[in-house]
Amino acid sequence: MITKTVPLKELTTIRQKGSVVLSYIEDLAEIEGKPILIGSGSNVIIKKSSKLYKLSEKFNYIKKRENGLLLVGGATPLKTLILYGFEHSLSCLEFLAGVPASLGGLTAMNAGAFGHEVSEFVEFVKVYDFKKGTIVVRRDVVFGYRTSDIEGIVVEVGLRCKRADGALLRKRVSEFIKKRVKKAHLINTFGSVFKNPSGDFTAGKLIEECGLKGRARNSAMISRKHGNFIVGNGNVDVDDVLYLIELAKGEVLKRFGVELEREVRVL
Ligand SMILES: Cc1cc2nc3c(=O)[nH]c(=O)nc-3n(C[C@H](O)[C@H](O)[C@H](O)COP(=O)(O)OP(=O)(O)OC[C@H]3O[C@@H](n4cnc5c(N)ncnc54)[C@H](O)[C@@H]3O)c2cc1C
Repeated sequence: MITKTVPLKELTTIRQKGSVVLSYIEDLAEIEGKPILIGSGSNVIIKKSSKLYKLSEKFNYIKKRENGLLLVGGATPLKTLILYGFEHSLSCLEFLAGVPASLGGLTAMNAGAFGHEVSEFVEFVKVYDFKKGTIVVRRDVVFGYRTSDIEGIVVEVGLRCKRADGALLRKRVSEFIKKRVKKAHLINTFGSVFKNPSGDFTAGKLIEECGLKGRARNSAMISRKHGNFIVGNGNVDVDDVLYLIELAKGEVLKRFGVELEREVRVL
């Protein structure tokens, strides 16, 4: 395992201040205990962990099998998969285009957008099980709203894709990206802060109704465009982010009696 001190700016999409000790997992046999894992860092802030683990480039691959089945390594960026789909006329996760995440993170969190979720395309997941110290092939993963019962490291995902025209896929992806840019932000953020509560209102709307859009604390601000996004100044302090999260949570509870659940993970 290669271990280095790495700036958090390079590891987190919100571009966090500070640094952390990071070990790149090459050989799963070298793992001891239950490491704290980071994927592409697109839905995390780092508060508690002084040491993190990340799958190395060895887990960045796509292998094609019969009938649209793709074996995708856990460290593979979503963007690579989407470009692969264009070339091979295969459709699966275009609805997430623009999300700067890895396939491992997307699967473990069952990411979703525009009425679709990753789980719709998952045939099996190869998980490195911490307790057993070996890889387990799971076809029975229980997926929920932005969650799954995966405990361990997603090393490979079997994705069942559909045949589709490459030009059509490009068009669809550019439409999804346009919608995203209009709605929220693509950089200096970690996506949604909270899960949407059940009921008629989204977390973003509830935060907006509390008058919190544009509320800032030093290096971070609740987006003026979308109440459920926090944007950083490119060198964000985790305490500023946590302050705004608690502020939004507290105000929504006070005003609407709704307890928001955090989507972003604090590692
Ligand atoms: C601009 C932007 C837009 C976004 N839009 C959406 C959206 O539309 N829908 C949505 O659902 N999310 C969205 N997100 C959030 C985020 O991309 C997803 O939650 C994604 O699943 C995180 O993947 P990651 O690889 O970045 O994981 P990280 O953020 O690094 O980690 C997230 C969690 O997954 C775990 N994890 C990471 N890799 C693995 C692995 N290989 N095995 C097991 N566990 C792992 C980590 O330990 C952590 O608990 C957005 C984020 C950004 C920055």
